[in-house]
Amino acid sequence: MPRRQTLTRTCTHTGCTERGFFEYANQRERRSIESKPWKCVRHTAPNEVLSKDSPERTTVLTLEPFYSRPSTYRPEPEIIGYSWRAEHEASGSGFRYGPGFQVHAEDFPPGTRLIVTARIELPKEQQ
Ligand SMILES: [Zn+2]
Repeated sequence: MPRRQTLTRTCTHTGCTERGFFEYANQRERRSIESKPWKCVRHTAPNEVLSKDSPERTTVLTLEPFYSRPSTYRPEPEIIGYSWRAEHEASGSGFRYGPGFQVHAEDFPPGTRLIVTARIELPKEQQ
């Protein structure tokens, strides 16, 4: 098995020095990684990055059905499971986790909302 190597990329946003680390197994994978411009989360999802001016963020996921693909045997899509999905997500997962919580779809009825809040509290001397 070839040893995986790490490629370091710098965010392509003007003036940004944020770096990302990508693993590759061969030159084809390395070229594929290098062929796409890479931007850090500060420049791809700036409203998700907590800061002193934006110290709290809440995301709501809803337990929604996902359907089978139409086939010869099942021409009409059928519900085959449930997943936690944020409003902007096209797909989700039946199991979600974060620091301090884990949640399984099968433990709750459809339409259940999972509300996740992250909040920064600065030390007193920094406020
Ligand atoms: Zn950046």
